[in-house]
Amino acid sequence: MKWTSRIYKFFIDILYPNRCPVCDSFIGYDKLICEKCITQLPYIEEEYCIKCGKHGCICGKHKIYYDKCLSFIYYEGKGKDGIMNLKLKCGVNFAEYFAEKVVTALDERGLLSQIDFITATPTTKDKLQERGYNQAFEFAKHISKLCDIKASENFLVKTDSELNQHELSSAERKSRSFKAYTLSSKAPSLSGKTILLCDDVITTGSTLNACAKILKKAGAERVICVAIANTNHYSKNKK
Ligand SMILES: [Zn+2]
Ligand SMILES: [Zn+2]
Repeated sequence: MKWTSRIYKFFIDILYPNRCPVCDSFIGYDKLICEKCITQLPYIEEEYCIKCGKHGCICGKHKIYYDKCLSFIYYEGKGKDGIMNLKLKCGVNFAEYFAEKVVTALDERGLLSQIDFITATPTTKDKLQERGYNQAFEFAKHISKLCDIKASENFLVKTDSELNQHELSSAERKSRSFKAYTLSSKAPSLSGKTILLCDDVITTGSTLNACAKILKKAGAERVICVAIANTNHYSKNKK
């Protein structure tokens, strides 16, 4: 954490005491998550396919438009609590904690230096108005701050506000999600660029895939996806 941000957090903490985004207990102004929750988060420790991001690789079954996909925890238990806090209360501590993990993981794989732009899966205008923020872009902004690569929300637009992805079946999601996103008219030239595409949770991967397809069509050379959580339970439930 930069010293300017430490000072800012110190004073904000006097007005609004800092809380753990997972269990809601009070924590120091310079902490992001309480020590107990840090040790108890459902980290993904098993090997998964680095291309599609799944334990049960789906690369052979579907056309995957993104080139790499990293995620860090399972979307369950304390992992789900942290995501819900980010989603519903803009609990950005959770996004900031995982932004550090993203930057380290990308650096270890030699990918960080290749990234030209950072963006996030878009949300609809209605949702943005209702919540006031897009949690995926909040995550992107924290990654951007740590690695000094510009984050922009102006790459993709989500067009269909009627659809609630979570209420659709996997097949419906797949076919519809390709229609639900378009390239923004404000997007810069993406020709030959490597883009880091951020999301909070990967479910089937269809949202990331639909967005990656558009970015590739617009000329992007590579799309690297990162998400905080993954709903893939392959190793836990299907063994
Ligand atoms: Zn906690
Ligand atoms: Zn795969």
